[in-house]
Amino acid sequence: MVRPTILRGDGVPHMDILWTPWRFAYITSADGAPRPGVPKSLAAWPGDLGCVFCNLIASVEYAIEHGTSAEEAEAAGGLILRGKHCFICLNAFPYTSGHVMVMPYAHLDRLAKLSVEAAHELIELSQQT
Ligand SMILES: [Zn+2]
Repeated sequence: MVRPTILRGDGVPHMDILWTPWRFAYITSADGAPRPGVPKSLAAWPGDLGCVFCNLIASVEYAIEHGTSAEEAEAAGGLILRGKHCFICLNAFPYTSGHVMVMPYAHLDRLAKLSVEAAHELIELSQQT
């Protein structure tokens, strides 16, 4: 089924708006947040990698290395499944209920830079969501 294109008054195609007021706290605080991605319960991790997802994984791994059970640390980080190259986590500020993200461990700025193995795993994990 093809949806008809709805035009704004100026003739530009109208985009559907996804109203997510619960994300307002994130949107208004993300720029100044110290160590974004580090869950409060994993704040013992002393680092800051400057990336929400790298901080998340590093704080989970630090907690596990320092005696927290993997189950508890991963739950604190909202991790659902960890693969060899990628992981699935809950979005702390979801657009909809059950919004998950499939992320590579590698911090890359382009999908094309992802290894073939990691790209395959990314798709395999995406199919499980
Ligand atoms: Zn990163």
